[in-house]
Amino acid sequence: MSILTDRPALRAEIDKVAEVAGYLWQKGWAERNGGNITINVTEHVDDTLRSLPAIAGPFPIGKQLPHLQGCWFYCKGTGRRMRDLARDPMANGSVIRITEDCAHYEIVADEPVMPTSELPSHLAVHDYLLAKGSPYRASLHTHPIELVALTHSRKWMVKDAATRMLWSMIPETRAFCPRGLGIVPYMLPSSVELAEATIKTIDEDYDVVMWEKHGVFAVDTDIMDAFDQVDVLNKAAQIYISAKNMGFDPEGMTEAQMRELSEVFGLPKSTSC
Ligand SMILES: [Zn+2]
Repeated sequence: MSILTDRPALRAEIDKVAEVAGYLWQKGWAERNGGNITINVTEHVDDTLRSLPAIAGPFPIGKQLPHLQGCWFYCKGTGRRMRDLARDPMANGSVIRITEDCAHYEIVADEPVMPTSELPSHLAVHDYLLAKGSPYRASLHTHPIELVALTHSRKWMVKDAATRMLWSMIPETRAFCPRGLGIVPYMLPSSVELAEATIKTIDEDYDVVMWEKHGVFAVDTDIMDAFDQVDVLNKAAQIYISAKNMGFDPEGMTEAQMRELSEVFGLPKSTSC
């Protein structure tokens, strides 16, 4: 029997992860085992689930994350493919609980699938979000082709240069990714430095952070919203590239047009950020 049986709210959250994993594969953003998803499912865990024994662990996280005490997460499994997770999320990911010492986790799931090797950095982001009182419960790392391509030019690595260009391609980008695209220069994947730089950039008020020549890291209330932000930003990059392919530089919306959007929709950042 699955731990999702008779837990429709928990199942719904994990079904959303599976749906997004399928989109990532279809979009060509999730080659091989690329990308990671973790979601904080604590609010969907009942007392019966809490009382279940672990099927594996405890395992060390590698750091102590005090705001995660009593928290539960669904995590993509290490080495697992998004396209497989889309089909069977409980065979390609697992539910974990953080132990009392906030430094270990145990697997309480259908199968003992070890979580992603990126777990410490994802959990550090969740710890930061909870410490801040953020309603965000999902984190997503993926490799959106056109956004990654942009980072191969110094021009777009300047703070908010890509944000302004992407916002100006289509009004929806300004409206639905109102915090723009944060930029983190190239760092070794899985490194502590990359995790710290990502949290620092989220703290500078970005929901989507671009890792140079690698991919994006996005946070939002749930996994569908995190995916939507990356999808909208990548769509804008595709429009930019389409115009370039037609042989001209896209004009972009004017500052006045973007300012008007900010005022009408009450957006959190000015266009001259
Ligand atoms: Zn990656």
